[in-house]
Amino acid sequence: MAYIPQTLRRQVAACAQDCCEYCHTCAKVNGGPLVIDHIQPESKGGTTILENLALACSRCNTHKAALTHYLDPFTCQQVTLFNPRLQNWSEHFRWDDTYTKIIGVTPHGRATILALNMNDPAIIVARTVWASGGWHPPHHL
Ligand SMILES: [Zn+2]
Repeated sequence: MAYIPQTLRRQVAACAQDCCEYCHTCAKVNGGPLVIDHIQPESKGGTTILENLALACSRCNTHKAALTHYLDPFTCQQVTLFNPRLQNWSEHFRWDDTYTKIIGVTPHGRATILALNMNDPAIIVARTVWASGGWHPPHHL
């Protein structure tokens, strides 16, 4: 894994406004540090430049691993995962009425939700607690 200079880490965090760029979990409620994700994995030639880095929670980062594509359950096609540097979150995802479940509105969004397990029961419970305290969803994103 490539060394990521502190200045580059800060640039990525600033782009992401200190929230996971996949599931929008913010650093202030995460209970652990957010990590730097290589959008195109290093194992598949991805480099350590701002355009290929995203801020992610450890849950999303762990599930994403070296994935670049996943199955869209509606079309049954392999599609590229959501790319936070090239795509807008709100064009691919939206919150349900309770703001606890992420709904994919495009093949990329649906595939990314499945691949990263973005709606598992534990995170739904956490989002429910955060929302009751007014800390979720992040209003600045
Ligand atoms: Zn996340």
